Amino acid sequence: MKVLKFGGSSVANSNNIKKVVKIVHKAAETEKVAVIVSAFGKTTNKLIEAATLAASNDSSYMKRFSEVKEQHDNVVQNLITTDKKEQVQNRVTTLFKQLETLLEGCFLLREITPKAMATISGFGELLSSYIISEVVKISNKAVYKDSRELITTSNVFDKAQVNFKTTNNNCITYFAENNYKVTVLPGFIAQTESGVATTLGRGGSDYTAAIYAAALDADELQIWTDVSGMYTANPSIVRQAFPIAEISYQEAMELSHFGAKVIYPPTIQPVLEKNIPIVIKNTFEPYEEGTLISNTPNNTAPVKGISHIENITLLTIEGSGMVGVSGTSKRLFETLSNADINVVLITQASSEHSICVAIYEEDTDKAVSAINKTFEVEIERRKVKPVIVEKDLSIIALVGDNMRNHQGLSGQMFSALGKNNVNIRAIAQGASQKNISAVIDSMDAKKGLNTLHEQFFEEKIKQINLFVSGVGNVGKKFLAQINQQNDYLKEHLKMNIRVVGLSNSKKMIFNTEGIDLNNWGYALENGQKASIEDFFIR
Ligand code: ADP
Ligand code: ASP
Ligand code: MG
Repeated sequence: MKVLKFGGSSVANSNNIKKVVKIVHKAAETEKVAVIVSAFGKTTNKLIEAATLAASNDSSYMKRFSEVKEQHDNVVQNLITTDKKEQVQNRVTTLFKQLETLLEGCFLLREITPKAMATISGFGELLSSYIISEVVKISNKAVYKDSRELITTSNVFDKAQVNFKTTNNNCITYFAENNYKVTVLPGFIAQTESGVATTLGRGGSDYTAAIYAAALDADELQIWTDVSGMYTANPSIVRQAFPIAEISYQEAMELSHFGAKVIYPPTIQPVLEKNIPIVIKNTFEPYEEGTLISNTPNNTAPVKGISHIENITLLTIEGSGMVGVSGTSKRLFETLSNADINVVLITQASSEHSICVAIYEEDTDKAVSAINKTFEVEIERRKVKPVIVEKDLSIIALVGDNMRNHQGLSGQMFSALGKNNVNIRAIAQGASQKNISAVIDSMDAKKGLNTLHEQFFEEKIKQINLFVSGVGNVGKKFLAQINQQNDYLKEHLKMNIRVVGLSNSKKMIFNTEGIDLNNWGYALENGQKASIEDFFIR
C-alpha cells in the first residue's frame, strides 16, 4: 500500500485536481492507495480570517465565506460530470450551511474559542476531501473516510497531540475491512476521545499522511507539492537552488525544523520509526525525480542543504551574578517552558557570564516579562541585567549528517558571510554537527542564503565582463576566438568571458547578459550612435 498526500496548491482549482486524479489513478493501477488531501489552496487562511473578523463583529467575514463557497462550487460544477452532481452539490451546501452558522455564532457572541477555531479551520479539508473523493470515484473504485473517525488526539485544539495507540488501532481495523482501491481522507483534522474537533497544526496534512503510512505499514509515503522535492535552499529565495536527490530522515527533519516548509516537521517521526521511505514529488511535473528521504541515502556530500527561519528575537541574560552560580540556566529554561515558549537556539559562553536564547518574535513580550520576573531579586541587586532584547533577526543553518567528518566547514561558512558583510549575532553548533546555525539580521537573510549556497553548492566560475572597443581585423579575430573558446575556458579554467559592450567608430551596443557572439555584426549595425563618453559611463 502507498500513501499519497496532496498539498493546497496541488488541489487549488479544477485543473490542478484533474492532475491529482491522474496521479492517483496511475498509482492505484498497481496497489491500494490512501489519498490525503489538504484544503483547496488558501482556504484555511480565509477560514481563519473569516472567523477572526466575525469574532470582532466585522460583517465582512461574509465576503471571505462567499469566496470560499464560490471556489468549491466551481470545482463541483466543473468536475462532477455524472448524474451525482446534484447529490454532491447538496452535501456541499449542507457543509457550507453549518460553516455559516458557526461563523454567525462567533459574530453574535463576539468571540472565537480555540475549540470553535479548530472546527471552523477544519472545514477546508472536510470539503476538499469529500469533493475530491467524488471526482476520484468517477474513474476508480474509491471510498471517502473522515479522518476524525480515525485519528484521536489530546484536547489542545489547534496543535493536538496524537494518541497513537487508539489511532493505530482505528486505522488498522478500518483498512482491514475496506476493500476499495482508493481511500480519500482529509488531512489536518482529527478529534478528541469525546468527539470534539481538533487540528494537527498549520501544515499538518503532511503529518496526517505520515500517521496513516506508519499505522498501515505502507511501502512509501509520497508528498505531492508545488516544487520538485526538497531543495538545497528555499527555491523562492535562492534562484540557483536545486532538488536534493536523496537525503536522510535526520537531515530532512533538521531542514524542516529550520524552515524548509516543504515538509511539516513532525511528519518524519512516525515513518522514521517504521523505516518507510518518503518521496517528495511535484504535482505539476510528475516525471521529475523529486527527493527520496530514507535511512540510507546515496549522498555523501557533507552539506545537504541550507535553511532559514525568519522573525526571530534574541534574548540575552548576563551579569556577574551568573558566574559560577549553578541553576541559572535551569531557572531560565524552566521559566520559558512554563510560559509555553519554544526555544529555537541556545548559546552560552564558557565564562557563564551570559546565556543567549533565540525565540520566535511573537513570544517576545511574554518571554521578557516572565524572565525579568524570575530574576527579579538578582536584577534589583544588580547581579543580573534585565533581559537584553534584539529583534528582526533570522537564523540560517547548514545541515548535513557528514559535516562532522569534514574540517573547516564552519570556517568556510563564517568567512563567506563575513566577506559579504553579513554580520553574525550568535552562533550555535550542536555536538552532533548535523547543523551549524548563525543568527543574522533579517535584512541580510536573502544575501546570506545566496552567499552560502554559492559557497557550498555552486561551481565557482569566475565571471569576466569585457567591453571591446574596435572591431576591425584584430577585434573581429579576438571576438571569434572568445566565441570559439568559451566552453573550453569554462570547463578547464572555470572562467566565463562575457562581452557586455561593443563599439566601432560609428555604433555601439550593450547587453549585461552578454552579446550573442554569433550575431554581433548585425546587432552592432543596429546599435546606438557611438560616443566615447557614453561608452565609459557604462
Ligand atoms: P503544500 O501546500 O503542498 O503542503 P507548502 O507550501 O507547505 O506546500 O510547501 C511547499 C513550499 O515550501 C514550496 O513552494 C517552497 O516555496 C517552500 N520551501 C521552503 N524551503 C524549501 C526547500 N528547502 N525545498 C523545497 N521547498 C521549500
Ligand atoms: N490546510 C492546512 C493549512 O493550510 C493544513 C495543510 O495544508 O497541511 O495549514
Ligand atoms: Mg505544506
